[in-house]
Amino acid sequence: MARYIFVTGGVVSSLGKGLTAASIGLLLERRGLKVGMQKLDPYINVDPGTMSPYQHGEVYVTSDGAETDLDLGHYERFTHSPITKNSNFTTGRIYLSVIEKERRGEYLGSTVQVVPHITNEIKSAILKMATHDLDVVITEVGGTVGDIESLPFLEAIRQFALEQGRDKVMFIHLTLVPYIRAAGELKTKPSQHSVAHLRQIGIQPDVLVCRTEVEMDDDMLGKLSLFCNVPREAVIEERDVRTTIYEVPLMLQEHGLDEIVVRRLQLPAGDLHLDDWREMVQTIKAVDEELTIAVCGKYIQLNDSYKSIYESLAHAGISQRVKVKLKKVDAEAVERDGARAHLAGVDGILIPGGFGHRGIQGKIEAIRFAREEGIPLFGICLGLQMLVIEFARNVCGLAPANSTEFEPECPVPVIDLMDEQKGVANKGGTMRLGAYPCTLKEGTLAHSLYGEARISERHRHRFEVNNRYRQLLSAKGLVFSGMYVEKDLVEIVEYPDHPWFLAVQFHPEFQSRPLTPHPIFKGFVRAAQQRARAAKSRASVAGERS
Ligand code: GLN
Repeated sequence: MARYIFVTGGVVSSLGKGLTAASIGLLLERRGLKVGMQKLDPYINVDPGTMSPYQHGEVYVTSDGAETDLDLGHYERFTHSPITKNSNFTTGRIYLSVIEKERRGEYLGSTVQVVPHITNEIKSAILKMATHDLDVVITEVGGTVGDIESLPFLEAIRQFALEQGRDKVMFIHLTLVPYIRAAGELKTKPSQHSVAHLRQIGIQPDVLVCRTEVEMDDDMLGKLSLFCNVPREAVIEERDVRTTIYEVPLMLQEHGLDEIVVRRLQLPAGDLHLDDWREMVQTIKAVDEELTIAVCGKYIQLNDSYKSIYESLAHAGISQRVKVKLKKVDAEAVERDGARAHLAGVDGILIPGGFGHRGIQGKIEAIRFAREEGIPLFGICLGLQMLVIEFARNVCGLAPANSTEFEPECPVPVIDLMDEQKGVANKGGTMRLGAYPCTLKEGTLAHSLYGEARISERHRHRFEVNNRYRQLLSAKGLVFSGMYVEKDLVEIVEYPDHPWFLAVQFHPEFQSRPLTPHPIFKGFVRAAQQRARAAKSRASVAGERS
């Protein structure tokens, strides 16, 4: 019988609920428990797949092909929880399912209402996660307590605790304890109000996790305990971390959170094993070598748009013991000022995925610059498509080469809509999504990086390399080193006449973990490191001479 933990958030959004939930998951796993992680999102989109990255940040793709919230990326990076389409439910998905049932006549003539029909649907979504022999299911409730749209979810988890038994369910509330600089004081009032709101709905938090800038003293913790009706030892400080998010679980553990959860839910937990994680955090803090990777895309203003890519670069840096500094370069700025103005001096260039016409010329120029200057280049999804267009135009002399995504009547469509996409009209959930196998060609960079011939990676795209142009491209030196053989789709391309020039149609960033970085990211960062070291030693020789 699984136990359940619900993580809610109060006062403001962006408190790091996903990170906190993932950290709790990690601590419980490191005590020998099997953990499942799930997120409930209050918005009406059926999934975030149709939302702009500016609205929602990255869309995280699961191996079974669901387009989900980026917090699931934290769950996968911190834990081994099964992450599937059952790991993320939105209000839209819940309502869609209820309305479909109503149309099929499954409610037998009753009036369909928020309580009980929507709340029942939410409770069954939670139970869908409780398979897989899990000891604990951790469900994060998106949004902020007090929002109109969160209400059905809060009502559902209240009912859930009543039905399962209060001893099997735990409520953890993440709140903000703001520091008022002018008064030099921390303030508990917003937390008091948000807990009061939860209690009005019938939810008494068992644990209060307090996000704070400064250390909380005993008085403060005691005051929160008293006003929020939470035992003193269960009021936990979660201070802003300076160096790395991977420190959050260590901090929560120091305040005894794992033990509080284990005791409260009577979990069959063992001793805590966290040494490798601690060592990893120590490594991040200790490295002093640095390199710079330019990420050239169109959503660079927002940190969350390429979340998993940034994390994957950091993971590769940990294993290479080098700090990866990011230079976020707006592809439209490259279009305006030329590649050199923005990319000279970087040690590697990464072209991430994307949709639509804006900024593509800048990406093509960034790729040309990397190719001609011998700078390591890594393209992901749209990045691969841009690499192929650049190569067709500037190496193969096919000036009009383009993708039919940007130019439907293009005379040289080196990138074209996949056959299976022709005739697809709906936008939601209709791309080529999720994990597919890929076969690697022996003797290529891709094969040497993975060290095996058959891999599996996650996808999210509609367009592909047009097989009609493959021969022409390979005659000029482009190597198709990874293929989805079953459908003859290009998955990886590389250019051996260059220090490191490789692009993938899939999204490797969804499979990188801090302790097991992804092989392609590792190879890319290693190549960038070699370039940075070479530049440094050239500079020091020049310095000695002068
Ligand atoms: N827009 C491109 C396609 O649909 C690339 C998608 C992506 O980068 N995720 O194929």
